[in-house]
Amino acid sequence: MSAAFKPVLPGASIGVLGSGQLGRMFAIAARRMGYRVHTYSPGYDTPTGQVADLEVAGPYEDLDAVAKFAAGVEVVTFEFENVPAATAAAAARAAPVRPSGEVLHVTQHRLREKGYLAQHGFPVTPFRAVRSLAQLEAGLAELGCPALLKTAGWGYDGKGQVRISGPSEAAAAWQQMAGGEAVLEAFVHYEREVSVVAARGHDGQVVDFGVIENHHVGGILDISLAPARVSPGCERAAREIARAVLESLGVVGVLCVEFFALPGDVLLINELAPRPHNSGHLTFDACVTSQFEQQLRAVCGLPLGATDLLRPAAMANLMGEQWRGGEPRWLAALELADVKLHLYGKSDPRPGRKMGHLTALADSGEAAAQRVLEARSRLLR
Ligand code: AMP
Repeated sequence: MSAAFKPVLPGASIGVLGSGQLGRMFAIAARRMGYRVHTYSPGYDTPTGQVADLEVAGPYEDLDAVAKFAAGVEVVTFEFENVPAATAAAAARAAPVRPSGEVLHVTQHRLREKGYLAQHGFPVTPFRAVRSLAQLEAGLAELGCPALLKTAGWGYDGKGQVRISGPSEAAAAWQQMAGGEAVLEAFVHYEREVSVVAARGHDGQVVDFGVIENHHVGGILDISLAPARVSPGCERAAREIARAVLESLGVVGVLCVEFFALPGDVLLINELAPRPHNSGHLTFDACVTSQFEQQLRAVCGLPLGATDLLRPAAMANLMGEQWRGGEPRWLAALELADVKLHLYGKSDPRPGRKMGHLTALADSGEAAAQRVLEARSRLLR
């Protein structure tokens, strides 16, 4: 522990850049432990703001306002990794920012992230940087089809992605990138998608929540279950890689590594998220310490909490589509008394918007998944 390091103790105020559901669940965990939470984002009455002690609305580009916000707290963290680098730097002039702006910088840009991982010997999906149609065509010739073209910056949940089935589709796909930088990725025929949420303390201690299995629909996470149905070798490898990534980046906080698991225990990193992750939401109900409390502990310099999974668990997202027939039938779902409902306080249920999630615990991840799916289907009219 460096001599200058001072833990941020209960009673202190913590700043969160961003104001979505991740900040909301962080704030719930922090307030439970007696901290005060301030949130900064462009909006009012936000998912985080609704449960925070203080909600400050302002643009991320207003660096004076960001510095003033940071001066009012003991430590700043973020729940939205697309916070501009200048914003993180402005905050860092007034209070420690954890994880650091450098971690943000690497992980908020697909090319930088993949380049970093490849350079440091981590297994990543085969990729090429693409800055012109000619480079796209050359990349397709090297990687083959099908392939995915993704915007280099500001992409998540399958946004900013085009699937290319054959070379004749290159021009149309490149047009969709609107002249920006892009990453071309080989399409991976994976067996499963899995993730490891891990945390690293300021003293270098690393803990992880084990391997979580993820199922996506339309590029967006739909269901997660833990423990993942993977071989012991795959589990060991995923946890080792994730821990090594946190160490390599020097993360102080929580980071999620998303993987494609291929036959023969081969793992490829799809992407990193330098914060709690949707796949880790089940830790809120299923683990001794949730990923949100762990983020709090890590950024405050408290000892990290135990990550034991108390029972196998599953989580199902509730998207805006769930509201298409009107208000979901909450009572019908809650009749399953062991299913937990989390809603994020969003009033506008647009399609594709994450509105909440359900969690269930059972004797196996599969049984828990069946239970949350049953609860979710009961919501529909
Ligand atoms: P991303 O936003 O890059 O995490 O992509 C969202 C989802 O799209 C992933 O979780 C996968 O289900 C799918 N996907 C992304 N990249 C690939 C790839 N290279 N090969 C196959 N599926 C992919």
